Amino acid sequence: MTARILVVDDIPANVKVLEGRLLAEYFEVLTAGDGFQALAICEQTQVDLILLDIMMPGMDGFEVCERLKANPRTSHIPVVMVTALDQPSDRVRGLKAGADDFLTKPVNDLQLISRVKSLLRLKTLSDELRVRAGGNNPFDELGRMGEGRVEEAAQVLLVDPRASSQERIVKALKPVAEVAAMADPQSALFEAAEHAYDLVIVSGNLEDYDPLRLCSQLRSLERTRFILIMAEQGEENLVIRALDLGVNDYIIRPLDPNELVARTVTQIRRKRYNDRLRNSVKQSFEMAVTDPLTGLSNRRHLDNHLKVLFNRAAARGRPLTVCITDIDRFKSVNDTYGHDAGDEVLKEFAARIRASVRGADLACRFGGEEFVVVMPDTTPEAATVIAERLRVSIESREFFLRPGGPSITLTASIGIASNLAGAETPEQLLKQADTALYAAKNNGRNQVVATAA
Ligand code: GH3
Ligand code: MG
Ligand code: MG
Repeated sequence: MTARILVVDDIPANVKVLEGRLLAEYFEVLTAGDGFQALAICEQTQVDLILLDIMMPGMDGFEVCERLKANPRTSHIPVVMVTALDQPSDRVRGLKAGADDFLTKPVNDLQLISRVKSLLRLKTLSDELRVRAGGNNPFDELGRMGEGRVEEAAQVLLVDPRASSQERIVKALKPVAEVAAMADPQSALFEAAEHAYDLVIVSGNLEDYDPLRLCSQLRSLERTRFILIMAEQGEENLVIRALDLGVNDYIIRPLDPNELVARTVTQIRRKRYNDRLRNSVKQSFEMAVTDPLTGLSNRRHLDNHLKVLFNRAAARGRPLTVCITDIDRFKSVNDTYGHDAGDEVLKEFAARIRASVRGADLACRFGGEEFVVVMPDTTPEAATVIAERLRVSIESREFFLRPGGPSITLTASIGIASNLAGAETPEQLLKQADTALYAAKNNGRNQVVATAA
């Protein structure tokens, strides 16, 4: 894992120590002696993670962190605060400022490296999603990582065998999340697989079940990517191994309720931030292959997917048939009633195509008022029956020019070709269907023509 890490501390000796350890792990290290310098570096260069001292003259670490998290350009950079005192109040203040984690001086080597790696893993994922979501600054729409409100309906699953402990945690988290508490790890795993939780909190002490095993099982479920483990003082190895497994955060007992709340909220926010990114990736992906007017697949998707279906049919010796449908005299609809009325007709036309094809068929808007349906495992004879049904559904019911407005009747012509007729490429197949369509038009329109096999 290579990454650029910024170390911020006003005492040069502290900077040197951290720098040395990080360099030994082959990280790239930048250093800053105060908050102003740190902010300037983050503005100018790409930084993957920041180790930030709290007590610094001029601007303290809390303020540096707040400023980083308030700036859309830097809000996604994980910040680990390095505290001289292990003060719970400092931690809570740091979490409120948006810090992602803490290390206590003197910094423990293993802890340093495992926390850094765990945060970098998460950042790599978020960065990838951000790039795939497209746009230069997806934060404009998505909101910043720290900003995401924790909606009232945050769902937390708690796995803790001790009733008294369950009770305390449920009570502490009540203002921020609905907590389902379970004692049995096996049942909790089923529960997590079946319901969408924002966060799973796992006790490091599960009687006769290995908590790390549970964490890794939870991680393997697509749904439960966010896990917080509770460890006892001195259970450092457990924590390090949990973080290595991809557990997102830990908290040491006895629990400070404020810290528990702050850590829970941070994890839920991250989870939701990642969900939003994921959705926007999905959306932009869908947009790239969908025709915005009709909601059918677009030409680009057809070109890509027809190739796959064509080769698959050839490899399996199965029939594959395509229909090209073209509205008859559509230009006159536009000329007489206007382009908007034409659009309305196209939408309804697409809806009727969608209603006449089956799930395995691929329906696309090929362009203008032409539509293509690709039918895997379908002979030209069977496709002709489907096309005829579509033709009738166009001819027999009127099209409204506006919702609830005047209506007109329309017809369509359909050309059919199948791979059984000897087409060697998807392009040839489409060409043959187009030739059949041309024949249907020449023959008087409102009819289905199939190329002879
Ligand atoms: P034919 O029976 O020979 O197919 O006659 P036609 O008028 O349907 O054929 P032509 O290809 O000459 O005209 C197609 C028309 O489709 C031209 C264009 O104005 C219209 N058109 C193409 N895309 C759109 C669109 O997105 N919206 C609207 N409203 N009209 C469109
Ligand atoms: Mg037409
Ligand atoms: Mg046309």
